[in-house]
Amino acid sequence: MERGFLLTDKLKKCPDCGKYLDLSSDRVLIEYFENGKVVCPYSDCKQNLKLFELLLGMLDEHSALFGMHYELLGCKHYTVCPIIKTNQYYNLDLKEEIGNGKLVNVISINPREPQIGNIPVISAPSIYPRDLLFENNELSIYGLPIEGGEDTKYLISFIFAPEEVTEDLSNMLLLDAFRFYAEEDYRNMVLSANTAVEILFNKFFNNLLCDSNSLKNEEGNISSDNKDRIKGFLKNGATYGYKLYPFFPFISEIREFPGLNRKISKKLDNLKDKRNRLIHEGKPDLKNEEGLKNREEIKEELIAAFLTFKYFKLIHGF
Ligand SMILES: [Zn+2]
Repeated sequence: MERGFLLTDKLKKCPDCGKYLDLSSDRVLIEYFENGKVVCPYSDCKQNLKLFELLLGMLDEHSALFGMHYELLGCKHYTVCPIIKTNQYYNLDLKEEIGNGKLVNVISINPREPQIGNIPVISAPSIYPRDLLFENNELSIYGLPIEGGEDTKYLISFIFAPEEVTEDLSNMLLLDAFRFYAEEDYRNMVLSANTAVEILFNKFFNNLLCDSNSLKNEEGNISSDNKDRIKGFLKNGATYGYKLYPFFPFISEIREFPGLNRKISKKLDNLKDKRNRLIHEGKPDLKNEEGLKNREEIKEELIAAFLTFKYFKLIHGF
C-alpha cells in the first residue's frame, strides 16, 4: 500500500510577492512577538505582513474543510492508498504512522481508479462520538458493492496529532477548539479555547511566584505553606480576568520581556466574557444566537488563543 505525507499549501502566500510563507514557523512568530511586526522573509520583498489577518485565512471555510488549520497546532496530514475489497471489511491500521499520537480526522476518501466497484463505508454505529470512532488509531471500512463490484483502490487522507501535541494539555484543548470551530460548535469552541489560555496564564504566574527568592526559605525552596498560599492566591485572588489585566501587562513591563499586543489581549478578554456568559448565564448556542457576525468575532478570538499558546511556548519556554 502506498503511503505518504500530503503536501498541502504550506501555509499561505505573501500578498506582495506571492511566495509561500510558513505562518506558524517559530522564526515568524518570535519576530512577531518580539518586534510587533513581521516582514516577508524573501530578500526581494521584505514587505510588512499582516500576520493576524493571514492567520485568520487559515480558518476560512476552504482551509478548515481540508483541515489545514490543524497544521498550525503541529498536526500532520498523511495519505494511504489501500485496495478496498468488495463485500469485505478493510481494517485501516494507522498505529505505525501515528505512534503514540492521535487520529484527528479523516479528510477525504477518493477513488484512484476510473472504474469504481464499491463504496467505502466507514463502519461504526452513527451514535459513536468521534473519539471512540478513532480509538486505537484504527478505522474499519466496508466495501459496499456497486455495478461491476471490482475491488477498488482509494486514496485516504487524514490528519493526526503527533505525540508531542497530545502530551501538551493546552495544545490538545486548542485542537479541540479548532475541531469545534470546523463543526460550527461555537459553544464548545469558546469553552475549550478559553480553558487552554487560562491554564497557560496560571502556569506563567505560578512559575513566576515559585521562582521568587523572597518567597523561598534558607535552603532555596518554596515551603509547602507558601506553595498553598500561591495556589490560593492564583485561584481566588488573581483570577483569570485579573491575571490577563492588569497583572500580565504590568509584569511584562517591569520584567522587560515582550508582552502580548493589545489586539491579542482584547480578543482574549472578549473570549473570556463569552465563556463567562455561557457558564454563568447559560447562554444557548452562539451560532444561532448571534449569527454570522459572531463567526467573524469567534475566528479572531480563536487565533488570539492560538497566538497566546505560541507566545508562552516561544517566549517563556513552556
Ligand atoms: Zn513577500
